Amino acid sequence: MDLKDCLVKMEQAGRLTHVKTQVDAVHELAGVAAAMEGGKALVFDRVRGYDYPVTTGMWWNRENVAAIFDTPAPELSALFAKAITALHQAPVAPVLVEDAPAQYEFMERPDLGRIPVPTHALEDGGPYFSNCVIIARDPDTGVRNTSVHRLMVSGPDRLGILMDVGRHLRDYYERCEARGLPLEITINNGVHPAYFVAATTPSSAAPIDVDELAVASYLLGEPARLCRSRTVAVEGIADAQMILEAEILPFVREPEGPFGEVSGYYATREDRWVVRVKAISLNREPVIHMLHPGIEVLNGQGLGIEANLLQSIGKKVKGLKNVYLSHGGNHYHMVLQMDPPYNGMAKNAIMAAFVEFSDLQMVTVVNSDVDIYDPSDVEFAMATRMDPAQDVVIIPGVFAHELNPVVKGNVSAKIGFDCTYPVPKPSCYNRIAFQKINMADYELG
Ligand code: MN
Repeated sequence: MDLKDCLVKMEQAGRLTHVKTQVDAVHELAGVAAAMEGGKALVFDRVRGYDYPVTTGMWWNRENVAAIFDTPAPELSALFAKAITALHQAPVAPVLVEDAPAQYEFMERPDLGRIPVPTHALEDGGPYFSNCVIIARDPDTGVRNTSVHRLMVSGPDRLGILMDVGRHLRDYYERCEARGLPLEITINNGVHPAYFVAATTPSSAAPIDVDELAVASYLLGEPARLCRSRTVAVEGIADAQMILEAEILPFVREPEGPFGEVSGYYATREDRWVVRVKAISLNREPVIHMLHPGIEVLNGQGLGIEANLLQSIGKKVKGLKNVYLSHGGNHYHMVLQMDPPYNGMAKNAIMAAFVEFSDLQMVTVVNSDVDIYDPSDVEFAMATRMDPAQDVVIIPGVFAHELNPVVKGNVSAKIGFDCTYPVPKPSCYNRIAFQKINMADYELG
């Protein structure tokens, strides 16, 4: 199964739309995507001046992804949680394949100008790859790492890259740079979402000594398929639409940004790390794959992160039922659904959530009679079950996510809201209810 098979599956399930009108890669493609955000996935059949189509929107809607994995949308999170369990209990190592589809042809000289890379938001500093899966090897242990980083095209064979603090790729790079060496990588575009889920597994679930590609193996139902590179000593994804063989240069920094980020704000233009592309291989009739900044990122990351946090926080506090990275909170606000067995335990859950996922700024805990996916219902619990004098937890000066503009120097305060009722439940917290009705039995006029 490769990306093109996934597009066929979404199309057969009625979850794909072709944009047949020609679009410009600068602003127009992303503008159309923004207008269609949240619905079916898109394929832009014609991008002005380029030979290859572009797809985006796979993660807009959980039904799109459900079609690919033959799994009902509400069960996707549990499926991804099982893949993370398999990573620790029965990891399946990748295999190396010969004659990889991703190496159908090599460009004679690497030229990113031939690839339709969109310029997304209006103030973006250039064309951006938003969802390439990067593979590298630990310079000391050889363990493979798989991760996603934004990449700005700055020349025919040159990219700017962001490696935020705490990411394993940055750890590898800093150890290479200390020895004066580049870090070799492959940049894989257009892969089955199993590889994307593996690459976005948080480091609390896949520590630096673990090869997260086993997550992809579990979801694919067969070992992840890799291929040898021509110019670097690290593998590419054999079924990718395109592979850039590349190195992150030591001691070189060049301007990168701005970029409209997952935070909903522009990341600033600053001197950051530089990637030199040594070779470009393409699949036969490749489809270039983009992630539209916004809901796609929240769903794409959210499904995996929620699954992992439900497990890890659930091990530390009893009574946890579900977790949701609310879309309004742009992955900085998590709503926990739990019925605490003892008074005070909702606050333990708040602290556990901040430990397990350091990006979080806010955690809200509600009981199981509240719909965590409905902001109005969460607000109801907040307004009627939280006594601000004792149910708000503020922890100043905690490590936080640098892309959030309120965070200064990686540090910010965090806030938790305990909106659960006391144990045992006083009857005044019983929500009013009415007789259950089947409206099909009623004639309306
Ligand atoms: Mn890793």
